Amino acid sequence: MDSYEVIIIGGGPAGLTAALYTSRAGLKSLLIERGIFGGQMVNARIVENYPGFPQGIGGLDLALLMHEQAAKYGVETSTADVTSISPGKPHRVITTEHSLEAKAIIIAAGSQYRRLDVPGEGQFLGRGVSYCATCDGPLFRGEQVAVIGGGDTAVSDALELSQYAQKVYLVHRRDQLRASKVLQQRAFAEPKIEFVWNAVVGEIIGEQMVQALRLRDVNTRQLSSLNVAGVFVAVGLVPNNKPFANVLQISETGHIITDELLATSVPGIYAAGDIRKNSPRQIVSAVGDGATAALSVLHHPRG
Ligand code: NAP
Repeated sequence: MDSYEVIIIGGGPAGLTAALYTSRAGLKSLLIERGIFGGQMVNARIVENYPGFPQGIGGLDLALLMHEQAAKYGVETSTADVTSISPGKPHRVITTEHSLEAKAIIIAAGSQYRRLDVPGEGQFLGRGVSYCATCDGPLFRGEQVAVIGGGDTAVSDALELSQYAQKVYLVHRRDQLRASKVLQQRAFAEPKIEFVWNAVVGEIIGEQMVQALRLRDVNTRQLSSLNVAGVFVAVGLVPNNKPFANVLQISETGHIITDELLATSVPGIYAAGDIRKNSPRQIVSAVGDGATAALSVLHHPRG
């Protein structure tokens, strides 16, 4: 069985930064990622709030740079899905590919898109339903599309889609956006974006491809339809906690509970980035968490 001083689970900004710190400090480190390195940030066409890049930087470009920097110091990487961990001395990490052991674990497994859970969402996935405006936006040139949600992701997506689509409906369940003021101002100034307030999606309708949305007004309960070819779901994120939920203390929202050193309820296991309770869920804070967790491993390897 392969043995490491630290295993880092998740290759987003928190995991990549933790890997940079532990490998640079000379710890035998393994970084496990099930998809592509960079996590959610690879879906951002431009990141405008990561310090050091006053003109902004593409999310994928930032991910590639972070990966290059961690790789420079010799972190081992593996593409696999972690299925379980068992605490001990050493801890065990079981993946779809291997069974591993480590003195310390940093969990930086991030989160995934929350689904609407309405009829048609699964059926039309990839046929009009998308969770990534940067990836799929160009497919909807000249079409009418809808974005569901009122947070930073929804408003950024609506702005991005307005470059391609003829019209973008932003459907939100309240009459006020959650998104930051700067994004709100840009969206209100964009003539291609029309706001549909106090509305929730009841069903996504189509034949081969999406053709319309059935909406319900939350106040009047009145039903209406919106003809759209694309539906971009941006209703938040849920933590990827499945392999850890029975082992570590988890909050009511499913996030891992940590102290200020990012130690979890099990000594020697740390959590960083979006998966931990009270994370600000920003790239810059995930990077900070990655460094904090790595330094905790270095200074308190047994927790
Ligand atoms: P979020 O901030 O959690 O917002 C989710 C939005 O979806 C909210 O407006 C929420 O409505 C709505 N919503 C949730 N469940 C829903 C449902 N079942 N049906 C309809 N609407 C629903 O998620 P996010 O926008 O993905 O952002 C996640 C984190 O990433 C945030 O911390 C955000 O600041 C960060 N982020 C930052 C940037 C940036 O800085 N440029 C870009 C993207 C994301 P309510 O408002 O009524 O709750």
